[in-house]
Amino acid sequence: MKIEDIIKEKPHLQSPLELYEKIKTLTDQCKKEKERVKLDSYTELIDIVLKNFSSVFQIPYESISFLKDEILKSGKNPVKDPASLWSLPIQSEELSREEIDRMLFILSKPFFVFLRKEGQKASFMDTGKCPICGTDSSLSMIVENNERVMICPLCEHGGSFFRIGCPYCFNKNSTRIEILLDEEEIRAELCLECNTYIKSFKEEQYIKYKDPFLIDIISLPLDIVVQKRGYIRRSSNIIGLRIIE
Ligand SMILES: [Zn+2]
Ligand SMILES: [Zn+2]
Repeated sequence: MKIEDIIKEKPHLQSPLELYEKIKTLTDQCKKEKERVKLDSYTELIDIVLKNFSSVFQIPYESISFLKDEILKSGKNPVKDPASLWSLPIQSEELSREEIDRMLFILSKPFFVFLRKEGQKASFMDTGKCPICGTDSSLSMIVENNERVMICPLCEHGGSFFRIGCPYCFNKNSTRIEILLDEEEIRAELCLECNTYIKSFKEEQYIKYKDPFLIDIISLPLDIVVQKRGYIRRSSNIIGLRIIE
């Protein structure tokens, strides 16, 4: 399904869907361009991310090129540690703190994706966190044989996890997990032990939307319902939202 068509169906999700599409385009373009870069050239990767950010978000490159100097000056290496970008000390007269944080989150996204190598199979079983980048995940797909694959919102790695279980407190008692379904049968699985939740969906939804992160956005109203009931989402979605009001 095309984003324009989904927006027509769900006009209340227009702005998150538009942002989703931009972040997706940014990530895809950066991934493609990374192929031609030598492994050790991290300044070149910074260039790729900033240039694509500039073109996708239609912000003149001159007004964000200072970020490259800031990154180099800070001694942080976003290729090794993408999350280090979030604490980059940026001052701006035009942008609010929230806008700066959002921008740094978006800029970090391609670097997280760069961490992942095609075909990696590592599971979420040991810690409940992404084995590639260490992030919590709040999204999972139920695949054939009724198995669960957790999906990392940052590096996008998918790895197996217990079919019944909370990735935060490892509660595996099905009577202590409550299920809520939305009208598309996307589920929220609420852990009654630690008060957190994850969302899950089946292959039917995947076939319809083709992207787990899009399904996560489509089901934002489910997050609102669940969070109103006091349950906590431990990780952000692809557009950097964790607390949804
Ligand atoms: Zn990850
Ligand atoms: Zn739990």
